[in-house]
Amino acid sequence: MVAVVYWFRKALRLHDNPALIAAAEGASSLYPVYCLDPKTCSRARGAWTNPNRMRFLLESLADLDASLRKLNSRLIVLHGDPVEALPAACKEWSASRLAYELDYEQYSLRRDKAVRSQAEQAGLEVVTRVGHTLVDPEALLLLSRGAPVTSYDKFRGLLAQELKARPVTTLPPPASLPPPGRTAAPHAIPSLEELGLEPMGDAAVIARGGEGAALRAMEAHLRRRDWIASFEKPKTSPTEMLAGGPFDAGAGRSTTVLSPYLTFGCLSSRLLYERVAAVYAEAAPRHSQPPVSLHGQLLWREFYVCCMHATPNYRRMVGNPICRQISWGEDAALVAAWREGRTGYPWIDAAMTQLRREGWIHHLARHAVACFLTRGDLWQSWETGAAVFEEYLLDADEAINFGNWMWLSCSCFFYQYFRCYSPVAFPQKYDKQGAYVRHWLPQLARLPAKYIYEPWKAPIAVQKEAGCIIGVDYPKPIVDHQAAAAATAAAPASARPLLAPPPPSPRRHPHDPRP
Ligand code: FAD
Repeated sequence: MVAVVYWFRKALRLHDNPALIAAAEGASSLYPVYCLDPKTCSRARGAWTNPNRMRFLLESLADLDASLRKLNSRLIVLHGDPVEALPAACKEWSASRLAYELDYEQYSLRRDKAVRSQAEQAGLEVVTRVGHTLVDPEALLLLSRGAPVTSYDKFRGLLAQELKARPVTTLPPPASLPPPGRTAAPHAIPSLEELGLEPMGDAAVIARGGEGAALRAMEAHLRRRDWIASFEKPKTSPTEMLAGGPFDAGAGRSTTVLSPYLTFGCLSSRLLYERVAAVYAEAAPRHSQPPVSLHGQLLWREFYVCCMHATPNYRRMVGNPICRQISWGEDAALVAAWREGRTGYPWIDAAMTQLRREGWIHHLARHAVACFLTRGDLWQSWETGAAVFEEYLLDADEAINFGNWMWLSCSCFFYQYFRCYSPVAFPQKYDKQGAYVRHWLPQLARLPAKYIYEPWKAPIAVQKEAGCIIGVDYPKPIVDHQAAAAATAAAPASARPLLAPPPPSPRRHPHDPRP
């Protein structure tokens, strides 16, 4: 009799789930478990703070439970720190094997080390598999001899080697699973209210959680074969979301909005990669290429995960060997204004409002607000911005989020500090009438288009006519963008000292064959 506990963490799916398949092998009973750990939802506060992300998670768990029930199994939900809850459950159920998918985020590495150690001490077999990425980040680390790779082109070369050795293959969902073990407690999926959170209205829902919704969304996109084949990220628009239809319909969206599904693992990145490759094969040779193509986007994801895996202190500036050491300012009032959408720059405030409400903004909106907070205007640390994103994003992913913040602040990967996003001219390229701003900031809705991105320039009579007095109904700008941008461009080294980063010190991989 082999009783097995399968611990779902990410990979909230049945399709292409190597660790679940490995768990089921030879098992006489299988306990599929999810452990509701407050720290996985808010690392900063260790508590349920984001009702939108919790909603997405609970929907994903409900969908998973429904799929497991079709296989005569069910999901068992535990509460609390997995380091305590899991060993206790394994003991109660006399399990002899614990299986889970590997996760390389820093909190997960610490947690998994503790869980593994306890499980092994209790005599359990621990089975793990890679499933979150196209390739095993450990394999890439071996190829780069333990050093973080910070160039996308170099990374693509290494990835191509690895993909040649081990091409992407996906697993179908299991046709059957071992019967569920018996449990005394109900272990049901809680509601938001039971977790002490207020449900948000449907208007805030950009994506419903779950494998089923993920697969429907992917299929809807794949039906737009020309769009998939010709996708070029720089040509997509940060303000087009308003034109979109219901999420599952896919049509009308500027980008796929699959990121929450990939983050929670409701959708396998390998499956998406494989399905997009099939569209390319039909369109060959006329399809877009990395870095701008859809495959290119999945490679960016892979790039950051592998970079994080090779970089100590990746979430921080200090002690992070790939990160420029910059003397950022510390002004809590500026950060609060940015976070709450009160900078007085409507494009920035609209994007931050969408982020807080929906938990998602377009990539270029992320660029704009990150540049504004850091080197562009406010000169605040990228770590602060990344923490705010981590709190609000539905797709919050440590590797991608902290990596992109380093990029946008010119701390790593990209160093053209003089290329800043204007909070006025940049959105005008996409949305002259300001429909996006009018949607997210209704107090500005009646302003003429001429002033929509610079409302402080509107004569008082125009402000009165629009029912929006600047400084009363909407803030005045908290900084002068022209002056801030000019200061950065004119004297970066002296006015804002950029200290040279220490040379990257390759981390020796435990399996490195070199003497
Ligand atoms: P699509 O353009 O449709 O791309 C498909 C998938 O490719 C995405 O779902 C995502 O998994 C991946 N991808 C796309 N762009 C990138 C990129 N630049 N880097 C890495 N992977 C990418 N993405 C996250 O998934 N989680 C984050 O926490 C996150 N934080 C970010 C923070 C900043 C400051 C910036 C500038 C970008 C961040 N991104 C993050 C990357 C990117 O903005 C989102 O992945 C993308 O906007 C998600 O929308 P989509 O699914 O429609 O993307």
